[in-house]
Amino acid sequence: MAELKNTFSWSFSAAEDFEQCRRRRYWSKYGMWGGWGRNASPEQKTAYRLCKMDNRWGLMGQAAENAIMWVLRQHQQGIPVDADTAWNTIARPFLSKKWKESSEGNWRSSPKQFCCLREHYYKTLENENEAKRQIAAQIQNCIANFIDKVLPRIGTVSPGQEFQIATPETGGDVEHFIYEGVKIYAIPDFAYKIGDQVHIHDWKAGKIKADQHRQQLSLYALWAIVKHGAKLEDIFLYVEYLNEGQVLPFQISEEEMDAAKALMSDSVGEMTEYLVDNDRAANVPLPKEEWELTYDTANCSQCNFYELCKAELDEQG
Ligand code: SF4
Repeated sequence: MAELKNTFSWSFSAAEDFEQCRRRRYWSKYGMWGGWGRNASPEQKTAYRLCKMDNRWGLMGQAAENAIMWVLRQHQQGIPVDADTAWNTIARPFLSKKWKESSEGNWRSSPKQFCCLREHYYKTLENENEAKRQIAAQIQNCIANFIDKVLPRIGTVSPGQEFQIATPETGGDVEHFIYEGVKIYAIPDFAYKIGDQVHIHDWKAGKIKADQHRQQLSLYALWAIVKHGAKLEDIFLYVEYLNEGQVLPFQISEEEMDAAKALMSDSVGEMTEYLVDNDRAANVPLPKEEWELTYDTANCSQCNFYELCKAELDEQG
């Protein structure tokens, strides 16, 4: 089998990681590379394992998303579903399976196959049952709001109108496009065409962060332009805040699109400075020590890679 190549890439979440902590970007893109191999170093193996780690809020989002997409698919086939059925059929079994996997610890031998939650790994949960109850309640609320408030707006979209979007679950490389020679990952949750119009929805099971989410969806607009030839004025964006039952619908102006492109170019440029000879094609990172630890150690309490940085952070005091 041909050897896998670590290609330079950019995404909104990679840029956020890089902004918060250079070292986090190093671990998640370079330090973990090859960590799945038998001959990998202990550090590579640990970085790979930690890179695959999830957390309860991520799990909550996945469970809610799986359930609402199932509701939508059932609806498209003419089968009405209520929130309890979606919870019991899709979200609850998913959540139970992942939680059990994380507790049992099989991820130690196969981090890609089995879920490991940061809360279990770093033992940060004071009351496990209460945490599960809280997540369950929020997912159920998200499903109910989806059925009441979102489905009436998108229920007439047929599968034939939808864009096929590659996700980690569909296998292979996930959804991306090439912009100015750089591979950009962008994975919209739900996108479809009505005539020349492109409508893109993103599900949010967590908190409202309007500015951040507007920026994220600007990238999806660029995806629609580059990959599907859409015109900016024909692109309609919706951030669906499922827990609150609110939607943020918007279009973006040429100026906003220019700002989004500039942000991306600046971020790509800064990341490139951390590569040997600034060579994105070779994509060889500078030594780990050149990727600074975060300036705000509050970021470390929420970070998967704490185990790998702990000694250095302790040295810094
Ligand atoms: S533990 Fe702290 S310093 Fe280390 S990668 Fe995470 S945020 Fe950065």
